[in-house]
Amino acid sequence: MKIISILGSTGSIGRSALDVIKLHPDRFDIFALSGYDNEDLLFKQAIAFNPTYIVTKDEESQIKLSALLKNISNGTEVLFGPEGYKFIAGHEKVSTVLAAITGAAGLLSTMEAAQKGKTILLANKESMVMAGNLLSEICLQNNGLIIPVDSEHNAIFQVIHDQNNQSEINKLILTASGGPFRSLPLRELKNVSIKDALNHPNWEMGQKVTIDSATMMNKGLEVIEAAYLFKISHNKIEVLIHPQSIIHSLVEFIDGSTLTQLGFPDMKVPISYALSFPERIASGVKGIDLSSVSDLQFELPDLEKFRCLKLAYNCLELGGSYPIEINAANEVAVDAFLRKKINFTQIPELIEKALNAAQSSKIETIEDVLVVNEVSRIKAGQLLKGFKFA
Ligand code: MG
Repeated sequence: MKIISILGSTGSIGRSALDVIKLHPDRFDIFALSGYDNEDLLFKQAIAFNPTYIVTKDEESQIKLSALLKNISNGTEVLFGPEGYKFIAGHEKVSTVLAAITGAAGLLSTMEAAQKGKTILLANKESMVMAGNLLSEICLQNNGLIIPVDSEHNAIFQVIHDQNNQSEINKLILTASGGPFRSLPLRELKNVSIKDALNHPNWEMGQKVTIDSATMMNKGLEVIEAAYLFKISHNKIEVLIHPQSIIHSLVEFIDGSTLTQLGFPDMKVPISYALSFPERIASGVKGIDLSSVSDLQFELPDLEKFRCLKLAYNCLELGGSYPIEINAANEVAVDAFLRKKINFTQIPELIEKALNAAQSSKIETIEDVLVVNEVSRIKAGQLLKGFKFA
């Protein structure tokens, strides 16, 4: 029996994970769930899964949810805030932590799980981007394990987890759907709306990652994530646009073999693999009938149009604090776009300005990561004031 805490159970990944877990009550026990804004869903999940703890965003929400749960004699205890998230991530009873909080906000709880040697099912790619080497090292020191949930990295993990000899790998090829603007000319990109950008052709995901997919920053962050996760240099990671999202990334070996994992674009597949590793369980998703998807297309990304991807490669190559800087600037830019402060093509403009103003610093501790993240966000916020929605 795996005893599980879910960080971010009300988000898209958390909900899909609970769908899979529901199919296997004999294998998984939910110890704790946590949400942020969606109190109603967190309450419903507490009733359905009867966890020992749930964690919500603040004290006001804690008082409200405690009262509601008491009314129906549910024994679940309600905690709140960063200390609450850390508590359920590191609790001694927990074996497995699904880290599915979006953005830099997920870093501390993911780190706590690493420090306590948990098996981390990592959906919070930003913590790998910001603190990749640190997170891997701490995990290793404490006999923990990181299993990527991100579909591309999960595919690569499925291919290479038991053959860790890096020298056998020629390159990793991350596939990308190309998002909603794959075939839109660069000159029309400026005028796309929030609604257009949120309309992903293949995947159902949260807002932040959907906008990141539209700018292809998502793929940029995934290149950085892959470099740290699989300890592969930037010049051995390629991005290939594959609009059908059936092939979820590939590994090319030195003997000329290329291996991959195929599946319908449904996050329940990588989630169930991460949950059940090293075994496999039913995910509720059917296999692919290849005769019905005979047209699989591939093309190289346009780095002029998808500037964010190019910037992410640059940051990975520069190393040091640059991956933290690009992640912070991107979070500020995406938030500004969603608040209609900047237009779509100003997202990479703001990020590039922030990176040009950045200076590299050495990252040795988690405090270093937090300081750079904080300072970068403030600086990007200041640069944002110079932008006009055009
Ligand atoms: Mg992905």
